[in-house]
Amino acid sequence: MFGLPSPSKLVVLVAVVLAVWYGFKWINQLDKSRKDGAPRRTRKGGSAGDDVKGIETQTCPTCGTYFPASVGSYCGGSRCKDGGA
Ligand SMILES: [Zn+2]
Repeated sequence: MFGLPSPSKLVVLVAVVLAVWYGFKWINQLDKSRKDGAPRRTRKGGSAGDDVKGIETQTCPTCGTYFPASVGSYCGGSRCKDGGA
């Protein structure tokens, strides 16, 4: 009934146990470092890549104001409405 498993089966068994053990260890370390290092990033729970990127800004050539690059080539302020006169 309970015959001794063959050496190859034992090796596979040990490998699986070690993989699970180190897997748990790795997950615990990841979880711990995430909680300790960056508590602000986890509040959304979504993908971290979108939050890190932020907004790309550029400097208005006329007044020197920083503004989002998606607005255009000028900041759109009262002095710069016409594209910098
Ligand atoms: Zn401007």
